[in-house]
Amino acid sequence: MNEQTPIIIPKMAGVCGWPIHHSMSPTLHNYWLKQLGIHGAYTMFAVHPHGAVRAFKSLKKTSIAGVNVTIPLKGKAFEAADELSLDAQKLGVCNLLYKRNNRLIGHNTDMEGFSEPLLRQVGRNFILNNTVLVVGAGGAARAVLGALLEIGAPEIRLINRTDKRAQTLAENINIPSLYAMPWEKRDDAVYGVGLVINASAGGMHGKNALDIKLSYVQPEGWVYDLIYTPQNTLLLQQAELLGLNIIGGLDMLIAQARPSFNLLFEASAPTDNSVKDVIIAHLNKATHK
Ligand code: NAP
Repeated sequence: MNEQTPIIIPKMAGVCGWPIHHSMSPTLHNYWLKQLGIHGAYTMFAVHPHGAVRAFKSLKKTSIAGVNVTIPLKGKAFEAADELSLDAQKLGVCNLLYKRNNRLIGHNTDMEGFSEPLLRQVGRNFILNNTVLVVGAGGAARAVLGALLEIGAPEIRLINRTDKRAQTLAENINIPSLYAMPWEKRDDAVYGVGLVINASAGGMHGKNALDIKLSYVQPEGWVYDLIYTPQNTLLLQQAELLGLNIIGGLDMLIAQARPSFNLLFEASAPTDNSVKDVIIAHLNKATHK
């Protein structure tokens, strides 16, 4: 190397969780880095919840640009941040910590990641003119509700296998257009809705299927399942048999990763969808192992 050769410092980022080995994020971000020719790497960090806040705060002493954060550390990331974005404040949890001027910024890309495929495929007009049913009352459901309220959904029904959690979530948000219905009455809750969103873990690999009948969804209606393992859930199969339109969870997975990539690597993630095939290949390999 002569004196004129510039020294390229690779950009480093990663994802933290406990456990973390099954995360799709490295596949996704490393593919985009390669596509853009960025000299960098995105890796996994197994971080125990007990030491997580300290580990996150110590990021400022490293050359790591930032980290995505997944279950069960999203609350710890919120605690560790020096500053919080509006979306992180709305949700009370962070899925991204990145550095700016030696400050740790906490952000959450789940609302944006959920909305992007919804607005692109279903369209704002449809949402503004239809009732929406949301299934689930965990972290994903919070992001879904936040996004739907921001879009301006006129009526949102919320159901959850454990009624109390749906009631508490609806009461906390406290908006007349959002109300919880009992799980027992889920057939009534489906009646006449234009869009069903599964933000629960029902139907995920290793969990029981989601016990919801879609027969009373509006014709031409939509079903958006956040689950991506498996990609074609029983709920989506049922929707297709009824002639309904569907969106699978991979679209959200990719859409929530894009703003993270932009903030971590300070470059625009490619907008072509070739990354989807890469993830599908990775998931297929993992299930056949
Ligand atoms: P969470 O906080 O653990 O909540 C899980 C929710 O699923 C609870 O409401 C739970 O109900 C419900 N549930 C679990 N098993 C069920 C079953 N068999 N039938 C009906 N409901 C069931 O999880 P989360 O973070 O909200 O995530 C929920 C799902 O969304 C996960 O499958 C996750 O993979 C997916 N997700 C996808 C993306 C994406 O990018 N595509 C992003 C975030 C999350 P109880 O209250 O009764 O336990």
